[in-house]
Amino acid sequence: DPCCAAPLPVLGRDVTVPLVTGGEVTYAALDYAASAPALQRVWDDVAAYAPYYGSVHRGAGYLSQLSTDLFESSRATVAEFLDCRPGDQVVFTRSTTDSLNLLARALPAGCRVFVFETEHHASLLPWRDADVTYLDAPRTPAEAVTILERALAAREPYAAALVCVTGASNVTGELWPVRELAAAAHAHGARIVLDAAQLAPHHPVSVTGLDVDWVAFSGHKLYAPFGSGVLAGRADWLQEADPYLAGGGASRRVARREDGGVDVDWHTTAARHEAGSPNVIGVHAIASACRALTEAGFDSLVARERHLIAKVRAGLAEVPEVRVLSLFGDDAGGTPSGSWGRVGVISFVVEGWNSSHFAAALSAEYGIGVRDGLFCAHPLVRTLLGSAPQEQGECGAPEAAPGERSLNAIRVSFGAGTPDEHVERFVRAVR
Ligand code: PMP
Repeated sequence: DPCCAAPLPVLGRDVTVPLVTGGEVTYAALDYAASAPALQRVWDDVAAYAPYYGSVHRGAGYLSQLSTDLFESSRATVAEFLDCRPGDQVVFTRSTTDSLNLLARALPAGCRVFVFETEHHASLLPWRDADVTYLDAPRTPAEAVTILERALAAREPYAAALVCVTGASNVTGELWPVRELAAAAHAHGARIVLDAAQLAPHHPVSVTGLDVDWVAFSGHKLYAPFGSGVLAGRADWLQEADPYLAGGGASRRVARREDGGVDVDWHTTAARHEAGSPNVIGVHAIASACRALTEAGFDSLVARERHLIAKVRAGLAEVPEVRVLSLFGDDAGGTPSGSWGRVGVISFVVEGWNSSHFAAALSAEYGIGVRDGLFCAHPLVRTLLGSAPQEQGECGAPEAAPGERSLNAIRVSFGAGTPDEHVERFVRAVR
C-alpha cells in the first residue's frame, strides 16, 4: 500500500523543543510550504562533496574541474526532473523570487503580462514595471481559464505576452489548471511561466506535458538547503535579454573600445544570467533532491501525502470553529497531474481565536511549527477571509484586538518527510 510508505528521512527528526507546560517534545515541522527540511540524502551528498569543492568555470585545478562538471551535470539532472524540451535552458538562480524577477527583466519590449491577483507576491509583483493586467480571483479552475481567455482576447493584438501562474497555491494548496491555462495562452499567442515553488516538491512537473514555456522553483522548498533556485525553459527571450547580473562568467569577451568605452560579448547560454561565482553547493543540493524524489517515486509520495491531507482535513472538519480556506471549494480537481486537487498546504481560521495566538499556542504547548499571517499573498487571503487585512509589515500578521475577528490565518503544511505522528498531534492539538 503506497499510503503506508515510510516518510523520507529528513534533517531535524530528532530535534526536541521545550514546552511551556514543562518537559520537551520532538519538534513537529509542519511549515513545509515556507521551507521544507533537507532530505538526509541531500545532506549526505553535500557532505560527501564538500571537501572537494572548488571554483566553477574558473580553475585548471582538478577540484575546479570536478566542480564545473558537477555544476553542469546538475543542469542536465534538473532538465530531466522537469522533463524539459531539447534546447530549453536551465538557469540557476537564488530562489523562485529571483527566477521570476530574472524573467521579468527578460521580457521583450512592449510585452503584456497577465497575472491573477491570487498569486504569491513573488509571482504577482516582479512584472509591475511592465504593462500588466491583473486578473480577478476565479472561483473554479474552469473559471480561471475563462477569465484568462477573455483578458487575452480583450488586449489583442500584442507583439508579445506572458501569463504567470502558480501551480499549487501556497495558501490553499489547491492545484491550478496549468495545462488548460497554457493552452489558452498559446491559442492567443502568449507564453506562460509556471511558479512551481509549491508544486514541484509535491508533484511531478513536466514542462513538455504541461506545455509551459518556463518554470521556476526554489531549492529550500524541494528538500534542499537555502540559496539556490531554478528558472528553466525557452532559450530565446533569455538569450536576447540583457544579462540579469553583469559581471564575470556572463561575458565571453570584454575589450576597451577606441572611443574609451567597453565592448562586451555576452554568453548566449544560461551563463549569461549567472554572473559571479555560482553557488555550486546549492546547485549540487538541488540536483541531489531531484534525484532523491525521482527515485522515491512521485506515485508513492503523492499517495502518502493524500493520506496525510485526508487525516488533517478530517480532523479539522470535526472542529466546528475551524474554517478551512478554499478558493475552488468542491471544484478543486482541475489538476495538472491527476485527479487529486491539492497538495499538503492547508490554511484555516478558528472562530474566537487570533490566528497568531493560535499558532503560538501550537508551538509552545505542543512543539508544532506552523505559519500564521497572510503568506505573502495579501489579495488572495483578503478574498478568502472576505475582509481587508489591517495595515502591516510585508507578509506580517496583524494583531486583532481582544474580541475582534482575526484577520490573518494559520497554515499547516507537510510533505515527504512528515510522519503520521506529526499530523495526528496537530489534529489533537487543534481539537
Ligand atoms: N511562489 C510561491 C507559490 C511560494 O509559495 C513562494 C514561497 N513562499 C515563492 C513563490 C517564493 O519562493 P522563495 O521565497 O524561495 O523565492
